[in-house]
Amino acid sequence: MDPRSALPSVDRLLRRPEATHLIAHHGRDTVLGMLRGLLQARRMAAGRGEPADGDGVLEECAARLAAQARPSLRAVLNLTGTVNHTNLGRALLSRPAAEAAFQAMVSATNLEYDLDRGARGDRDCHVEALICRLTGAEAATVVNNNAAAVLLMLNTLALGQEVVVSRGELVEIGGAFRVPEVMARAGCRLQEVGATNRTHLRDFANAVNAETAAFMKVHASNYAIEGFTAEVPQADLAALARRHGLPLLIDLGSGSLLDLDAFGLPPEPTARQAIRDGADAVTFSGDKLLGGPQCGIIAGARALVDRMRANPLKRALRVDKIILTALGATLQAHADPERARAEIPTLRLLTRPQDEIRALADRLCPPVRAALSGRAEVAVIDCLSQIGSGARPVDLLPSAGLAFSETGAVPVARIAQGFRALPLPVVGRVHKGRFLLDLRCLEDEAAFLAQLDQLDFGRAGG
Ligand SMILES: *Cc1c(COP(=O)(O)O)cnc(C)c1O
Repeated sequence: MDPRSALPSVDRLLRRPEATHLIAHHGRDTVLGMLRGLLQARRMAAGRGEPADGDGVLEECAARLAAQARPSLRAVLNLTGTVNHTNLGRALLSRPAAEAAFQAMVSATNLEYDLDRGARGDRDCHVEALICRLTGAEAATVVNNNAAAVLLMLNTLALGQEVVVSRGELVEIGGAFRVPEVMARAGCRLQEVGATNRTHLRDFANAVNAETAAFMKVHASNYAIEGFTAEVPQADLAALARRHGLPLLIDLGSGSLLDLDAFGLPPEPTARQAIRDGADAVTFSGDKLLGGPQCGIIAGARALVDRMRANPLKRALRVDKIILTALGATLQAHADPERARAEIPTLRLLTRPQDEIRALADRLCPPVRAALSGRAEVAVIDCLSQIGSGARPVDLLPSAGLAFSETGAVPVARIAQGFRALPLPVVGRVHKGRFLLDLRCLEDEAAFLAQLDQLDFGRAGG
């Protein structure tokens, strides 16, 4: 007998109650297409003499359709120890910011409509006053991210001209943002001055010529130069720029709006300090230390910001109503530092005390150990978290977590893979032969515990 005759027909499968269920969920054509494909594969296997029958075709169909229907981009638990992880989407929005964004998503808004005058308005006006209050700037505008902010600023103020930058600040930010390359794309020429470790005021003074459009400083966020170093104090550079009638532009990178020192965190230059010390325009990210949505903020002198707003590139780089409402709510929370720390996840997680994290690790260790049932060893450890997304990697935050080691049954990579394969994927890191979960960013303890019984180290991969 032809082994292929053991396979059920599509019609017979479709009459089964499980199939009715799948059709209600995924649509008839999708189920039909998937079943035909699966049966075809089994017929071919049978044709090659491999054993084939109809068992489990519907189950396999259901599993594949469920996998297809699962969104590609979804929530994960970031237990990597890097709080603002660029690959994991950087800042988490505060509840008020997310709720404001949701309202804007599902309704018409006064995005570019002046409700007092009943006439066309400007989308920047919803956040400009807030940014100005928090930074001391005269004017502000918002674009897609900080890279876009730098691009718009340079393209507006230095197209076809030279911008003077210290060699020590020609940084590359992860994900291929290199200051010299962005400058080139903005249409301006880079005039590098000084040496990698030392740049002096006279280097800037000597570089000025008829083609010079601006001085620029880039906050060297993701590395530290140590030893025999010299950097020009910003106030001195500002004074020199003013003498030559040039603007001083600063890419602050993370650019906190609050004094992080007061929270016991490594200090970051604030936009307010930079403007007070003579910057004519500063740019910074919305989703780094600000803890808001992805965007880039430009704050500075009214005349310069007005020119940037009038640049046609602004139209291409502008943000939408969702971002502006989320940013507005995030900025509102910054009016009071304690409110900001409580409300904004980035600040709350960065300032979470180690004792609290260790207590969490102590609570989680026994149920995790039980769920592992000997497939791996687990222990509570002290560890160090990173701020992430460009904040100095030398500044680490004492934290705690769980460390998993092999017992021989399951390799460490497979343990990591097992956690990533959970319905709410758990992302940790492998360090010195162990798999680590830094619990600093775990706020939903119940969600973590609820899926432990689904841990499966059996699948290949990782
Ligand atoms: C992060 C960073 C950028 C890029 O900002 P995005 O918001 O990611 O576009 C640019 N410059 C510096 C100094 C940075 O730290």
